[in-house]
Amino acid sequence: MRKSKLFSKIWSAVLAVAVTATSIVPVASFDKPQTVSAAVQEETTVTQEATKDNETMMQGFEWFTVGDGTYWNTLGNQAKELSKIGITSIWLPPAYKGASGTSSAGYDPYDLYDLGEFAQKSSNVARTKYGTKDEYLAAIKKLHNNNIAVYADAVMNHKSGADSTETVNAYKVNWSNRLSKVSDKLSIEAWTVFDFKGRNNKYSSFKWDASCFDGVDWDQKKQTNALYLFSNKEWDKTSTENGNYDFLMGADTDLNSTKVRNELVNWGAWYYDFANLDGYRIDAVKHMEYSFVGDWITRVNEKTGKKMFAVAEYLDGNVAHLKEYIDATDGKTTLFDFPMFYRLRDASKGYNKDLRNIFKGSLIEADADHAVTFVDNHDMQAGRSGDTVSGWFKPNAYAYILTRKEGIPCVFYCDYYGSKNGKTISCKEALDSLLFARKYFAYGTQHTYSSSNGYVIGWTREGDSTHKNSGLATVISSSTSDSSLTMNVGKAHAGEKWIDVTGNSSETVTISSTGSAKFKAVAKKSCVYVNENRVKTLMAVGKASGLKVSVLGATSVKLAWNKVSGANGYHIYKYNTSAKKWDYVANSTKAEALVKNLNQAAGYRFKVLPYKKIGNKKIMGSSSNELVVVTRPVAPSLKATAGTGKCKLEWKKPCARIKGYEIYMSTSKNGTYKKINSMSAAATAKVVQNLTKNKTYYFKIRTYRYKGSKASDGIVYSGFSSIVSVKIK
Ligand code: CA
Repeated sequence: MRKSKLFSKIWSAVLAVAVTATSIVPVASFDKPQTVSAAVQEETTVTQEATKDNETMMQGFEWFTVGDGTYWNTLGNQAKELSKIGITSIWLPPAYKGASGTSSAGYDPYDLYDLGEFAQKSSNVARTKYGTKDEYLAAIKKLHNNNIAVYADAVMNHKSGADSTETVNAYKVNWSNRLSKVSDKLSIEAWTVFDFKGRNNKYSSFKWDASCFDGVDWDQKKQTNALYLFSNKEWDKTSTENGNYDFLMGADTDLNSTKVRNELVNWGAWYYDFANLDGYRIDAVKHMEYSFVGDWITRVNEKTGKKMFAVAEYLDGNVAHLKEYIDATDGKTTLFDFPMFYRLRDASKGYNKDLRNIFKGSLIEADADHAVTFVDNHDMQAGRSGDTVSGWFKPNAYAYILTRKEGIPCVFYCDYYGSKNGKTISCKEALDSLLFARKYFAYGTQHTYSSSNGYVIGWTREGDSTHKNSGLATVISSSTSDSSLTMNVGKAHAGEKWIDVTGNSSETVTISSTGSAKFKAVAKKSCVYVNENRVKTLMAVGKASGLKVSVLGATSVKLAWNKVSGANGYHIYKYNTSAKKWDYVANSTKAEALVKNLNQAAGYRFKVLPYKKIGNKKIMGSSSNELVVVTRPVAPSLKATAGTGKCKLEWKKPCARIKGYEIYMSTSKNGTYKKINSMSAAATAKVVQNLTKNKTYYFKIRTYRYKGSKASDGIVYSGFSSIVSVKIK
């Protein structure tokens, strides 16, 4: 068995979750809360031993992804950031040539071997919507270099964009009962010939024709849209919706054909090695032969000598159907938890304020170790079906899937980066906090609680031995007012102080000697409380040095300090002498800040604390040294009155704290001013004698105070007054 280093790492993580879940989470003991008369009730507990780091998947694209061929490069450049926020695996969009060429999102596959390498189909260029083969492989390399496993999208149910037609005998069948033939045998012209001339047999010489398909929905000869089952075929065994749900679109592959199965296995193994994949997301399995996917996974694994991760899209809200499929595939693939998705959607639409219902009938309740949970995707997102979780509820929905024990959560790309159509608004801040909580704290035994009406739900994780100070307490509320939930986080946490990393609650919760505490639930929001000291360690940021005045004014001061590595910003505090405490006065994202509304000629003490952000939550670093600042006095205004051979200067005292004045004189406005008098603080006028008749003199004045109690402590001057001119009589 050959295993790549990355593969081993990823798979062992997956196994760790799966093994734990299998051995410890039988279906019956899912720790769902129940309604009881008491206000709060703890239900059964799910124990989890020390584990590997949590896996967190991302759906790394959306339907409206930009189609100019730059996407693979964009994604490669995001790899570092994604790794940093806690993404450990990514599902990439179908990378092969679609029938609609560069405008294809990939779900109308023409040539599965053309990863943007051959000039084929409508746009007749090599690249796909997302870029070229080489750019694709480079993006995967970047993702791997950042320890992110890569799952490719396998669309094997159908093919689109055939190169030519052929004459086939077929029956029309009823769309809503597809086992019912509604015509005699007809001769139709079907788009079923795929010879891939642009690829010229590179990688595979397999050619597709009508013998590889069960049916189509278009007769080219009669230009008729109808559902046609080829007369020598039967639909594959699939979901029984519409009698049979084999047909979805295009030319429907015959997954009971030995040569088709062999070719898809050959392709799956070729692709896995060629692109250095770690797993597959398998499209539209509800429409595929039930015996196929399990067999395909087994055979591809045999061929590659590796063990793929697999998640399949069985689009159905009924968990019984998902369970049936899991059984049919011998549990070889996980499934997206569509039932839970629909329950999250319902809660977001206000259909259901009882938050306990989100678990009911979900795959995480029925079979957690086969569940991949999600909140939105490329089919459901606003601007597509739009039948999705409302934006306001998304942070709550993500709190469910990212902090509970069950399932592998999959974060939708647009929920982090926003969608290109502008209709899916990013909830990046909430995700940053929740992903942080998942990465470092969402470990260990889980206990679930709820209020008696279910409007407030919460759960705790006790933490495990491999993740230092791990454990968390999540509280979600559908109520319109704040409340609280008393929950137990485990005795081991007694005495610890916990804070909410989402920033929705500013409370610091102290864990009691029994491990229980009362956690604030914020109306319509989610809070995730974790060990404050651990957060501070993880988000450690240095202290600001070199705090100094860069511009000193009379009522403002501009402070500057040395930039602190890793800081997202700084808080500036001013000492409040009467209240004997430090007041927060300003926030700055740069290593400087202007503090306004100060008194003139007054003394102040300042300090600066850097912070790092987890979402909206600021984690403060330690304080800089204090800086004492004395503001300048306001410059006095000066008035001059001419006399005979003299002039009178007058001014007003700007404030009580000044110590004196200095008067300057010049015989030309822009000339050299000479200090002619120093005046005491009590003075408000001065007569300047011995001036020349008919000559114009120029005067200005400034005042000052001592920095401390005496001149030797330093002198703080005001600016100069405006210059006044006077023509002597
Ligand atoms: Ca099918």
